[in-house]
Amino acid sequence: MTTTTQIRLAAYPVGMPQDSDFETVTAELPALADGQVLLRTIYLSLDPYMRGRMSTAKSYAASLQLGDVIVGGTVCEVLDSRADEFATGDIVLAYTGWQTHAVAAAMQLRRLDPEQAPISTALGVLGMPGFTAYAGLLELGKPKPGETVVVAAAAGPVGSAVGQIARVKGARAVGIAGGPEKCRILLETYGFDAAVDHWSPTFAEDLAAATPDGIDVYFENVGGPVTEAVVKRLNLYARIPVCGLVAGYNATEKPTGPDQLPGFMQRILTLSLTVRGFIQSEFVPTHYESFQRDMSAWVRDGQVNYVEDVVDGLDQATEAFRGLLTGRNVGKLLVRVGDDPTPEARGQ
Ligand code: NDP
Repeated sequence: MTTTTQIRLAAYPVGMPQDSDFETVTAELPALADGQVLLRTIYLSLDPYMRGRMSTAKSYAASLQLGDVIVGGTVCEVLDSRADEFATGDIVLAYTGWQTHAVAAAMQLRRLDPEQAPISTALGVLGMPGFTAYAGLLELGKPKPGETVVVAAAAGPVGSAVGQIARVKGARAVGIAGGPEKCRILLETYGFDAAVDHWSPTFAEDLAAATPDGIDVYFENVGGPVTEAVVKRLNLYARIPVCGLVAGYNATEKPTGPDQLPGFMQRILTLSLTVRGFIQSEFVPTHYESFQRDMSAWVRDGQVNYVEDVVDGLDQATEAFRGLLTGRNVGKLLVRVGDDPTPEARGQ
């Protein structure tokens, strides 16, 4: 009998999630049935969408019930298998959530090849966040050479990929991030053409200086005051793929101040803007294959770089998750739940 340590939802958070909203439980896993494998978690991905699952507000995916294990993408090692497709020792991409071990159906897993790329990248640049950037920018943003693409949360896995793909396509990439250190990373690691700190008191002026020709594509990741400043710089026919609104995920009441909606609607009309929300899964059938091919090549040849922010131990997940919602993470946030047995990791 194998046991697993799980982090479950104990209460729906109000505002920033607190320790008391979670409970850590040790549970016994069932014996394997035909077609199932026993998994040990190596990496757990922490992503902003998880905050939405911890809420009863209506959204595109069902809320967690109290007592559920928190959901999440994982990279796991197969410890035992009753499925022909997988053998002990295989490394797989799974969706087993905030726990150390799990039983999963083989059909829900994808085998990873540690020779091709570090296995952690399947949760970041070569996984869901990278795919979100690729599909959202290319299908909805449609950047053209010479155009200006602006993205916020630009030092994170989605934003950094958006900026770098924009540059691959010949556009000018302007990143918005919190603080001078993240802005330095945008310029030096990711090759953005300009970086703007949204915490600076001169943010709106700095954004104007960084976008002398206006903005043709705004890849929306945050909302709030950042969006207000960006909207004033939009060009005729600008496109706004609405990917995320992380600045408001912990909000407990509506923003105060003047209603911005009439002004925004006016701009949509007079500038012929295209504003289009999306959830990445919409584009999996049409774009996943080309994403895998293109992104792997861009990472291999250095056109796309990535940074990972790895914390050790499942018991650190809740604190790290709070950091994600306030910008403490630098790069793709991962929890190393157990040892990484791949040669790349041993070489580090
Ligand atoms: P990140 O790792 O970039 O983490 C979130 C970042 O948001 C923080 O690091 C912080 O960066 C920024 N942030 C937090 N609060 C604020 C604020 N008040 N104002 C401005 N910025 C803030 O996350 P991801 O790259 O994983 O995700 C980016 C966005 O993409 C999120 O909104 C997420 O929900 C969305 N998303 C949407 C998907 C879809 O299918 N539509 C799929 C995947 C992600 P900083 O320090 O720079 O402010």
